[in-house]
Amino acid sequence: MKRVVALLILVLTVRAVAQSTIAIRAGGVVDPAKGSVARNQVILVENGKIKEIASNLRVPDGAVTIDLSNEWLSPGLMDAHVHLTLTEVTGGNAPFESFYLKESSAYRGLRGLRNAQDLLRAGFTSVREVGNDAGYATEDVRRAIQAGMFDGPTILTAGKIIAPFGGQSTAIPPEQGPFWRYEYIDADTPDEVRKAVRQNIYYGVDVIKLVADNSPFHYSLEEIKAAVDEAHHAGRTVAVHVFGGEAADNVIEGGVDSLEHGFFLTDEQLQKMKRKGIFLVGTDVPRAQLDLEGTSGGIFPPPEVLAPKIIDRLRRAYRIGVKMAFGTDTVIEVPNKTRADLMLDYLAVWREAGIPAPEILKCMTSNAAELMHISQQRGSLAPGMAADMIAMRSNPMEDIEALRRINFVMKDGKVIRRP
Ligand SMILES: [Zn+2]
Repeated sequence: MKRVVALLILVLTVRAVAQSTIAIRAGGVVDPAKGSVARNQVILVENGKIKEIASNLRVPDGAVTIDLSNEWLSPGLMDAHVHLTLTEVTGGNAPFESFYLKESSAYRGLRGLRNAQDLLRAGFTSVREVGNDAGYATEDVRRAIQAGMFDGPTILTAGKIIAPFGGQSTAIPPEQGPFWRYEYIDADTPDEVRKAVRQNIYYGVDVIKLVADNSPFHYSLEEIKAAVDEAHHAGRTVAVHVFGGEAADNVIEGGVDSLEHGFFLTDEQLQKMKRKGIFLVGTDVPRAQLDLEGTSGGIFPPPEVLAPKIIDRLRRAYRIGVKMAFGTDTVIEVPNKTRADLMLDYLAVWREAGIPAPEILKCMTSNAAELMHISQQRGSLAPGMAADMIAMRSNPMEDIEALRRINFVMKDGKVIRRP
């Protein structure tokens, strides 16, 4: 009898879910990949996916209707370079490494969850975490979201960052030991790089993150190629922190999927990236955030040197036509601002570099989805795609700052916020 009741409940639940169609009336729907806009659309959402989208759809009986006829809909936003669990101490003389010593992985995981929830509410429906995740803590943040315990964006993870000896820590006294291995794997030969890639994949990562040039020594072409070969054979992409110079030559020649930062890339290097279809995730930090970060323990040049270089490199990359995905790298906290607010502050840099709004939106949606290998499921609004969408009162293709006024967010068909 108990089993019959259980079966009946199961059948009724399945039927209820199948019947819960949502019909969204949208004033305008933007298609960032095509750069086009369609007016007065109806979008039918079923089981977390877009079932139909057209101007003349009949709304099925019993469908839940959401009226966004005064709004502009867009695919959900993506950020290809986040560090969900990490907050860097700003001001004073706290070393870059202080978060290793003062914060447990559990605390870091909770911060990651808080940031993930803030990002989703702000309209970021997919993010790519590129390491510094407290010994794989982001894998657990993702697991809790996937298990339905919390709402959150789709998260791709990188686990531990693979780097030449020392990770991104410089001048740590030998008696302190290699404590950076909490977040980094030291890998100093092609074989060690292969082993590190395998370790990360074993622990569940989607993307392999290397730091190529944070030290006076940097990765060789052979080491980059080992990472790419090992990762690509396992269906993973490779993202590499590199600023420029010979290390960037090796990274580009080695055939990685994306260069992160690339602040000092030359036109020749950008042209080669374009030819090879390598993405630039420029993490184009606004001056105000550079000032707060300082030189990040020697990782960054001084803000007055770096800020103009970032704008110039972004302008050149756009002019040359390198594929770009939006990525921010925000790791600071500012009173009365969420991490999403700080990420949207990067838009000012893109505007200053002269990038048109439709192109910026493309870098934040379809381009990022392509880099993240999720474009078959996310990044555009079409039948069969996940119902990840946002809405706002003005057209983001005309003014990208409209993204600051997002008032509707749907994630996998679930309404996260609405006007
Ligand atoms: Zn970063």
